[in-house]
Amino acid sequence: MNLTFTDRVAVVTGAGRGIGRAIAESLASEGVHVVCVSVNPASCGAAAESIQAQGGKASALAVDVANKEAVAEACTQLIQEFGGVDILVNNAGITKDGLLIRMTEDDWQAVIDTNLSSCFYWCKGLVRPMTKKRWGRIINVSSVSGISGNAGQINYASAKAGMIAMAKSLAKELASRTITANVVAPGFIATDMTTSFQEGDVADQVLATIPLKKFGSPQDIANMVTYLASEEANYITGQVFTVDGGMTI
Ligand code: NAP
Repeated sequence: MNLTFTDRVAVVTGAGRGIGRAIAESLASEGVHVVCVSVNPASCGAAAESIQAQGGKASALAVDVANKEAVAEACTQLIQEFGGVDILVNNAGITKDGLLIRMTEDDWQAVIDTNLSSCFYWCKGLVRPMTKKRWGRIINVSSVSGISGNAGQINYASAKAGMIAMAKSLAKELASRTITANVVAPGFIATDMTTSFQEGDVADQVLATIPLKKFGSPQDIANMVTYLASEEANYITGQVFTVDGGMTI
């Protein structure tokens, strides 16, 4: 992409599959050392190995992002190993959809913990060295559900809206230390998360809502995240970028 990155280290959560893996590969292709985080060791391990096989710099770290002690421990380990992390991409996420009347408290809490509280845990653990270095990038992967809301997704939409408010607040808190905080909000992207929407009548219904008439690819999101992580995006903070084929026009 011809972007500028100088000896940067990134943490990408949910880098084992889908959007996170594309983000990890894209940052690594720009020379960034990427720490691939996911819950399943085989998944983040395969992502890191694939980047290394292509000549990139990567390592794998299996962490449940919803577990605050596990994230705190991972952050301490990363700061010891690298001195600090320059780019934090909060991408790990899950859905547990259901209408309010049927949604269990467990389904509410699991989605809030994995998608939203995780961002707080990682920021808390990694921001201090960024402030000392006076450079940093925080990029939250939210969703169009967090902007428009979505029936059947009160847990997910609330978490994704929270990720937007968190990034805007961090942008204000951390600007004086040259740390930017932005959000990418994908629409329908073809990954494991959306397999049930990708075929048959459901796919037709989804595509009818997308002016560009196709699902996005993980690379479409990775392109935006990589740009926001680069030196070239130095004057952009507190913003939300929808990458959704025009769904939210
Ligand atoms: P995906 O294919 O289901 O992959 C999710 C990734 O998150 C996996 O690598 C998974 O780890 C990891 N993960 C899940 N729970 C975790 C936990 N507790 N701790 C650590 N890692 C965990 O999802 P995706 O479609 O790429 O979505 C990525 C992000 O984009 C999510 O935040 C999602 O909400 C958002 N998004 C997606 C779409 C879409 O259409 N796909 C639309 C809008 C927003 P393992 O690989 O180890 O299982």
